[in-house]
Amino acid sequence: MILEDRDEPLVFVDEAERPGDAAAASWRILIVDDEPDVHEVTLLALRDVIIEGRSLSFLHARSAAEAETLLRQEDDIAVVLLDVVMETEDAGLRLVRFLRDELGNRATRIILRTGQPGYAPEIETIRLYDINDYKTKSELTRVRLYTSITVAIRSYWQIHQLEANRRGLEMIVNATMELSRPRGLRRFAEGVVTQLCALLGIGEEGLVCAAASVAGVSPYVLAAAGRYSAWIGQSLDSIPDDRVRQVLEDALGKRQHTFEKSTCLYFSTSGNHALAAFVDIYHPLSDVDRKLLEVFCSNIAVGFENVQLYQKVYDLAFEDLLVRLPNRNSFIGLIECRPASADRVALVDIDGFSDINSILDQAFGDQVLEAVAKRLRAAFPLSVAVARVGSDVFGLLGNADEVTPEHVAQVFAQPFSVNDQDLRLSATTGLISLVGNTERAVEIMKNTGVALKQAKSFRRGKAMFYEPAHAIEARDRMRLLNSLRQAFSADYLFLQYQPFIDLASGRVVGAEALLRWKTEEGQFVPPDRFIPLAEQSGLMVALGNWVMRSALQFLARLHSEGISDFRMAINVSHVQFREPDFVEKLEAAIASCQVAPSAVEIELTESVAIENFALIEQKLVALRRVGVAVAIDDFGTGYSSLSILRRLDVDRLKIDRAFVSGEQCVAEDSGIARMVLQLASQLGLQTIAEGIETEAQRQTLRELGCDEGQGYLFSRPLAADALLDFVKQGRA
Ligand code: C2E
Ligand code: CA
Ligand code: CA
Repeated sequence: MILEDRDEPLVFVDEAERPGDAAAASWRILIVDDEPDVHEVTLLALRDVIIEGRSLSFLHARSAAEAETLLRQEDDIAVVLLDVVMETEDAGLRLVRFLRDELGNRATRIILRTGQPGYAPEIETIRLYDINDYKTKSELTRVRLYTSITVAIRSYWQIHQLEANRRGLEMIVNATMELSRPRGLRRFAEGVVTQLCALLGIGEEGLVCAAASVAGVSPYVLAAAGRYSAWIGQSLDSIPDDRVRQVLEDALGKRQHTFEKSTCLYFSTSGNHALAAFVDIYHPLSDVDRKLLEVFCSNIAVGFENVQLYQKVYDLAFEDLLVRLPNRNSFIGLIECRPASADRVALVDIDGFSDINSILDQAFGDQVLEAVAKRLRAAFPLSVAVARVGSDVFGLLGNADEVTPEHVAQVFAQPFSVNDQDLRLSATTGLISLVGNTERAVEIMKNTGVALKQAKSFRRGKAMFYEPAHAIEARDRMRLLNSLRQAFSADYLFLQYQPFIDLASGRVVGAEALLRWKTEEGQFVPPDRFIPLAEQSGLMVALGNWVMRSALQFLARLHSEGISDFRMAINVSHVQFREPDFVEKLEAAIASCQVAPSAVEIELTESVAIENFALIEQKLVALRRVGVAVAIDDFGTGYSSLSILRRLDVDRLKIDRAFVSGEQCVAEDSGIARMVLQLASQLGLQTIAEGIETEAQRQTLRELGCDEGQGYLFSRPLAADALLDFVKQGRA
């Protein structure tokens, strides 16, 4: 709480202490004397006396010790009538010191009385301890006592009021400092409630704070304390208490404070907001209190304007201005202070949005985003937070019952109407469960992003939940990719060549270039691991070009060593193949290495061949024109239909090693290998089998009519020089 360091509540409005107030109680007088007679005489002398409209009431102490206890308990004693000599000769003076120094009480007035003249304290003591009067008991006649007491009470009241003013101003200064800290309007209003209650010395309740947009929106309860707190957020019209509602409406309507019946303060600003604060005080406010409240109000009005400015800046920083949803910062904040019921986060990414943006134009892209934002916001209840957290990524935070892949899918089930066009969109979603999740919001966002990335790679258009393994996997892949980049630039990549053997003659007819990566530590990373990574990261095109040029250079070297009639096979990734200038690049490399195009073959995997038929058909025509041969790699692993195969103008089928190795092809019915070979012969295609490891496999494949073979039986992939020797020996 804001005021928790304030130890003593200031009692500004206390009926017991108001002079002239009919209902006021009395001035409290403490008589300290060890002679019982003195108590009685004093009572008698001051009976029925009224000073400043108040009667007197008395407290009695028979010793200095007893008086100490009383003074400790009671802090509203106006005057002490004090005997000097009691337990000891200076017991009275000790008590004075106790009151001023130890209790820090400066207001209570002291009248010293002594039985014997000559026991007078020094002038210095009287001045130092602010003693009002010093009289022998015999001197104090009824009239004199009355005069003394009256003077003492008046000065007590003045001191008391000054003290109250000082403390009130101190509170206002503190309150203003406290309230001028940047915070939301709601918290500002709560602060006003708290400060005002403290200022008026009432408990934190019986106070309502309503804010109205002068522009016309109905006023509502911004903050309230105590028994009014149930009304927070309600519109002023719906407040069940007529009196409170009227007072607030009055203040807001007339734009002024009202002090009748109860207190309602009005705070206006130059902006389009106004505040009214209602305090339930049944008695009228004193002038002091009113003046303090005026000062408070003008200070608050300034703070209020600051808060509004701050709110504007905040809105700019936390709202996405295009789609009018919270932005990423804001979403992270929402996750950070989410309620327990919000136990799931989803990130929804619009598929192919960059194409929409580049093929159509950006204005159209903006309209698409607006349409999606609108649909998303409408599709989920308000308990689900919807935000735009990236250019085409939306965030959802809410209960697991609401934030589901199915609900997201429903949003995209119907086409969107953009610019009078029906547009079908799909989205990929990453989700994370927050049950038992104690991570910071930024970390949660990161992990949901990992799930989204996984979904985009493996389940485009669908959804995937975050699993910790994803993050580890993603991190490992990141590391591997980084070192692959370094390896590429630092020449840690090289090619090996694995010979092709004509199964009938045993002659070496060519070789396949295979990429190798030997790390700085001397370890080989298999291409099956790093090639998919290069494909996903955009490194594959550069890598593939390098492979192409290196392999062709080696082919030129073979030619120059007198080895003609030799085919160089190069694996081409679908990423590379899709590049618009792939054929041109290949053609240029062939030209610059001065090799015959007919000695070059590219290997395309079966899945590439069927993925985008129109595209590959076009490119095959172009390749044919260049004079390069094409082999379908890994044949048998995909499901190319016969009709597609028939229409694709390729030269060779390469039977995947999965159907060659082990017992696969030597078994009684050699299954797929046999089928592929039959198919190839019907289509008039050349064949090669990879992964031949045993003589039996070679035998079978040869009998089944397979033209060529590749495998450990003949040779492992070899370094360039080793391959040269291998070919020379084979042909010798
Ligand atoms: P792939 O095109 O099917 O290459 C044949 C793979 O079979 C090679 O593995 C080769 O070492 C292996 N192999 C050869 N003979 C035998 C054998 O008798 N038994 C067994 N068990 N395996 C044999 P590698 O070099 O690990 O390459 C794996 C895959 O990496 C390749 O499969 C290819 O898809 C890809 N790859 C390799 N280099 C390149 C490249 O330069 N570009 C592209 N795009 N992909 C490449
Ligand atoms: Ca291959
Ligand atoms: Ca293969």
